[in-house]
Amino acid sequence: MPTCFKKKRAIDLKRVREARRTETLSKKRKSRGRSKGGKGSSSIIHCSNCGATVPRDKAKKVTTRLSLVEPTLARELRAAGAYIASPTTVRYYCISCSVHYGIVKVRARSERRNW
Ligand SMILES: [Zn+2]
Repeated sequence: MPTCFKKKRAIDLKRVREARRTETLSKKRKSRGRSKGGKGSSSIIHCSNCGATVPRDKAKKVTTRLSLVEPTLARELRAAGAYIASPTTVRYYCISCSVHYGIVKVRARSERRNW
């Protein structure tokens, strides 16, 4: 019966809330490695490197500027007063790939738990 299930679930949630209040549950980061806060869910994106599906707020966003003109030529053109457009490329990486590429680093516990 659905009502019984609801009642059971409510009791379970109550227990979990009680545990959270009284005990210290292990938690690596304040944000749980995400930036969504109290928001329920966020959209899913694919890692630019491995194609893994990652929540948008968990993925690491890397914006790089692509220069179409050589740096020496660009300097000359800029001196002459030209505007050089440089398109930006946005890439999203999953945590594994961002650790691999050095976008994020594994930090010691003492460095991490400052909250
Ligand atoms: Zn990846």
